[in-house]
Amino acid sequence: MSEMNRRQWLGRVGAATAAGALSEAAPGLAQVKSPEGAGKMKLELSEFQPKSMLHAPETKVERARFPVIDIHTHLSFRAKSVNGVGLGDKVEFLASPDSVLPIMDRKNIRVMVNLTGSSGSGLNEAIDKFQKPHPDRFVTFTEPLWDQSARPDYGKVQAAAIESANRAGARGLKVLKTLGLYLRERVTEGPLVKIDDRRFDSMWEACGSLKMPVAIHVSDPEAFFLPTDRFNERFEELNNHPDWSFHGKDFPSNAELLQARNRVLARHPKTQFILLHVGNDAENLPYVSECLDRFPNTSVELGARIGELGRQPRRSRSFVDRYQDRILFGTDAVPNGTDTPQQVFVDALYEIYYRFLETKDEYFDYAPAPIPPQGRWRIYGIGLPESILQKVYHGNAARLLGLTV
Ligand SMILES: [Zn+2]
Repeated sequence: MSEMNRRQWLGRVGAATAAGALSEAAPGLAQVKSPEGAGKMKLELSEFQPKSMLHAPETKVERARFPVIDIHTHLSFRAKSVNGVGLGDKVEFLASPDSVLPIMDRKNIRVMVNLTGSSGSGLNEAIDKFQKPHPDRFVTFTEPLWDQSARPDYGKVQAAAIESANRAGARGLKVLKTLGLYLRERVTEGPLVKIDDRRFDSMWEACGSLKMPVAIHVSDPEAFFLPTDRFNERFEELNNHPDWSFHGKDFPSNAELLQARNRVLARHPKTQFILLHVGNDAENLPYVSECLDRFPNTSVELGARIGELGRQPRRSRSFVDRYQDRILFGTDAVPNGTDTPQQVFVDALYEIYYRFLETKDEYFDYAPAPIPPQGRWRIYGIGLPESILQKVYHGNAARLLGLTV
């Protein structure tokens, strides 16, 4: 709702209330008919946009204090997908370097890592479009050949594909939540393939020996595994995107998925894993800490989880302090991703991340949207010192990717 509409709407509500009769003229509002609630207004949750009356200072952080490597972005994606499984090499682009570079320059983003760079000819195209003309600004990761995964010789084929992707210029491997939640024994049909299935062992090993970090997304927010009902803290988000729910059907639990991932981490100690979205359990930082302690071959990334970190600022602050050498800046940014405001690649998104990391501001929105898209709460900055900011913004990622910033 625009500011104008909101005012008109509030005006109408006021007039209706004053007249003592709420009518359809006020969207989302209706008089409660039950005897105990007589006279009370009803308001649709989706219409509720409370404005905070808190007089809290607002620090505008237009540029990051230090150059940034955004290790989690999506500038391209596989063109074909069936039942959640990306198939074939063909890529589609969400942006061009010319459309992205001005925002990067304004926001002090030195490097963007395009994780979803596909494979084979699609990977070459993605590298040609971004990385080749701007080798100091873009990095590309490759993705597994999911469509080959039912072949008996898949292990060999996939390891060879990693080697040729590396020769083509890919700096790492991205594994989407496809593995564990969508990929099936007959690729798009049959039982779900387990994350620690042995057929992937040679892929994890190839990444280790080629020093290509694996950026892995496993599972999803805890609330996505619970019924979409009035007790679910992400009710509106799941109601808007019913296909994001992993409750019921044949889906494993969140804990089972993370345990299977952990068996992979244990089995491939020479491979570096970037556990995306704060280890995919930002709601449970003690558990993420446990994983980081158990598996020295891991680091975590922040993408689309400052809503979680920012609502527990004291715990987050000590978490970042403790693991300051293993935390990477990432946003999960998607150019034109208006459907997911917490990821849309715009100036305002980066300003929120910078404000969260650099200031001690209180109670602000974690996404550039009128309604908090990942749960109705606001966040608090953690005010990191410069020594840690430098590591989180670029130092840790540069080390992992072998870059100089
Ligand atoms: Zn992502």
